[in-house]
Amino acid sequence: MDLMVSPEELRKRWEKTVERLFMEGIIKSEAVRRAFLRYPRYLFVEERYREYAHIDEPLPIPHGQTVSALHMVAIMLELAELREGLNVLEIGTGSGWNAALISELVRTDVYTVERIPELVEFARRNLEEAGVENVHVIPGDGTKGFPPKAPYDRIIVTAGAPKVPEPLVEQLKPGGKLLIPVGGYHLWQDLYVIEKTPEGKLRKKRWGGVAFVPLIGEHGWRG
Ligand code: SAM
Repeated sequence: MDLMVSPEELRKRWEKTVERLFMEGIIKSEAVRRAFLRYPRYLFVEERYREYAHIDEPLPIPHGQTVSALHMVAIMLELAELREGLNVLEIGTGSGWNAALISELVRTDVYTVERIPELVEFARRNLEEAGVENVHVIPGDGTKGFPPKAPYDRIIVTAGAPKVPEPLVEQLKPGGKLLIPVGGYHLWQDLYVIEKTPEGKLRKKRWGGVAFVPLIGEHGWRG
């Protein structure tokens, strides 16, 4: 007996969930709502997890990593205030889902760095199958940023750092924003929105508690 949920049912559940997130005020903008509808999370997880993709919790992806919960992704996208044309760097590609959403919001090339080669391949496959053409998955240590395409309007880090990596601050444009969870290893972190003022000063705002997998690298946790 085939117990797999049909594509129609997956889509129906997803649309209902997006409407609920919108009604609850977690998704605030029409742009983020449209991006969620365009790229459902079930396209970015392994087949056996697809039927759970509408549940607002992190889901496993290969190599012991996770794709974040729906509310977390929505909150970070809203805080980032993305709009067409912004130059965005994401650190921690994972499944590629968040990068796909970013690409829908900025409608230009998006750069995303992932340290685990197996996940680079996983994300590239997911992105290709979802029809996303403007996301570039870069293998490597994202704590060093990605200098070839700097400076960035936004840098969005989706793993927990012990401290703010200096290269990311350097690669941020004046007027740009860095979103980064900072705190404990696999414990709670605080999500910070760090704005570089036009004069090059840093203005830090703490959003609240979050729980991300560790950011491992030269300017992060030692692996
Ligand atoms: N944004 C992802 C998505 O949409 O699926 C979820 C990210 S997952 C919570 C965190 C990811 O950060 C993992 O895939 C992990 O391998 C990656 N990571 C950890 N340290 C990293 C580093 N220094 N550079 C790049 N990626 C890193």
